[in-house]
Amino acid sequence: MANTWVLVINCGSSSIKLDVLDPSSGERAKRGGRTLSGKVERVGKPGCRFALGEHAVELDSADHAAALARVLPEFLEGIEVAAVGHRVVHGGARFNRAVRIDEAVETQIDELSKLAPLHNPPNLAGIRAARSLLPSLPHVAVFDTAFHSTLPTRAKEYALPAKLREEHGIRRYGFHGPSHRWVATTAAAHLKSDLRDLRLITCHLGNGASVCAVEYGRSIDTSMGMTPLEGLVMGTRSGDVDPGVLLELLRQGTSVDELDDLLNRQSGLAGLSGVGNDLRDIEARAAEGDEACRLALQVFTHRLRKYIGAYAAVLGGVDAIVFTGGIGENSALIRHRTLQRLEFLGARLDEDKNRDAKLSAEAPVAEIHEAHSRTHLLVVATDEARAIAQDAAHLAKLDDQVERGLSIPIAISARHIHLTDEAVEALFGEGHQLTPRKELSQPGQYACEETLTVVGPKGQLDRVRVLGPTRGKNQVEVARTDEFKLGVDAPVRDSGDTKDSPGVTLIGPKGSLTLESGLICARRHIHMTPADAERFGVKNKDVVEVAIDSEGRDLVFGDVLIRVSDKYHLEMHIDTDEGNAAEITPGMGAAMLPDNETFQDGMLIPTKGTARLRLRSTRFD
Ligand code: ADP
Repeated sequence: MANTWVLVINCGSSSIKLDVLDPSSGERAKRGGRTLSGKVERVGKPGCRFALGEHAVELDSADHAAALARVLPEFLEGIEVAAVGHRVVHGGARFNRAVRIDEAVETQIDELSKLAPLHNPPNLAGIRAARSLLPSLPHVAVFDTAFHSTLPTRAKEYALPAKLREEHGIRRYGFHGPSHRWVATTAAAHLKSDLRDLRLITCHLGNGASVCAVEYGRSIDTSMGMTPLEGLVMGTRSGDVDPGVLLELLRQGTSVDELDDLLNRQSGLAGLSGVGNDLRDIEARAAEGDEACRLALQVFTHRLRKYIGAYAAVLGGVDAIVFTGGIGENSALIRHRTLQRLEFLGARLDEDKNRDAKLSAEAPVAEIHEAHSRTHLLVVATDEARAIAQDAAHLAKLDDQVERGLSIPIAISARHIHLTDEAVEALFGEGHQLTPRKELSQPGQYACEETLTVVGPKGQLDRVRVLGPTRGKNQVEVARTDEFKLGVDAPVRDSGDTKDSPGVTLIGPKGSLTLESGLICARRHIHMTPADAERFGVKNKDVVEVAIDSEGRDLVFGDVLIRVSDKYHLEMHIDTDEGNAAEITPGMGAAMLPDNETFQDGMLIPTKGTARLRLRSTRFD
């Protein structure tokens, strides 16, 4: 089969890394015997140059845009690229998975620069330049933070006042997501286990370093926080420091920029050892008896061991500890020191295997535990470029199907409430206006900050999200499972058709309201524009069947109503029960089942599943 090439662009503050690879096989593209893996160094400074193997081009102080404009055409000559994947460091609370880039996404990445001032601006500069140089290709943003969007609140929050946290987005986000995800997946495959059955601790040790507790495939804690400065000792970054130290330095007159430079560039292995950040030099000097270098190794491995112990406790046990990154993959000494005294976790290092562990493209995993070690100890080659390329290829393919009309994005609609103006006043107080919280996919619709308790004869549903704008009729849309909880049997209806449906009581902060009717289970439907309808050969109010291709749980939904309006945007809406039944899970490519928190938010979550419309439609008029 022919290769599908994906260009991966990783723009740092002073470098640009470029790779062209096939995401399925991992094969790197070659031209004239030379692997297409290049790097621009010293971006924006004198001496800026592009190196591709031995071949180098001087670029005189070019910035990101100028460097890419000079380098890309020649770099890609003769190679047909299907998609471009861009590494973006900070996705904030907004992006929990990779996305296809458009202007709106660029703006959001720009807005997130306040959380990552060193990283997002160069990432964005690369995106803008590449999109203008390669306008016909799909460009996808892959976020470092996305893998950690599953962090539970207890791991996400700092013990700071609520107001401060909310106003400034101060919380833990985590980084190195593509690497942690890649090595966790590779380790599971090596262990011939399902990632969803494993508790893993992945240690990414490069110039930047972080540890991640991966519980059944989800990141539940990680050592980097709001910025990539928290946690482990790194090449030049301090990792954890008592915040009191910083206060003291500020009091003594150190400026914010000096502090930034101190913590990000003068600390870590470089600061401890005094000989720079290259671990090979530090190891060599330590072996010769250099005390500062010995200390650097001790502090580095002590901190890492401490995190491993902590994450074993957080996970309630650990099946495998994984080492990766330049240091994790190459330094037997660091692995040896780190894994001392972890026998109580059932982790027994085989010294010979550790010393001899050598990874290659053919053998990207090495086992370094003793035969009877309860916990597996693995060295795994990371491949962030391939992880990014896979996301890019996957999204580009789905979007292509959508564009060609072969597939329809699916959105899961969690329980929610539509209110009249009068009901809003009765429940939230006189003169109250709904506060938009998040735009929904259908134009003009939004989820509100406001939530209500819905009470039925048997039970209640808390924090049910109100959707705006207000409507002419009150309507509560729930799933079957919710009806059991409430003790009400609601009919399956089209939105707006609440005649003879049961009532429920709504409780808000300023009052309650008992509805005579209005509780329905929304009929599954597809929103589309007249142009979509023409393409699919259907018309408004047609009822069709939709096949969902999911892993191991393919499902055909009947009774799916077509709703056509030029105000709509192509999307199928199903409820949470239906989403679960069709196994729309993160495992199903880009199709995401919202986690419980998001669920209760009452959002419509576009999942980009692969719904194919079967054109065997039955018409009722
Ligand atoms: P980055 O985070 O920049 O991608 P890498 O993952 O390439 O960094 O890791 C760089 C680190 O790996 C450096 O500290 C380097 O000294 C270390 N390293 C690379 N090879 C070896 C080796 N053979 N022994 C010890 N350390 C090594």
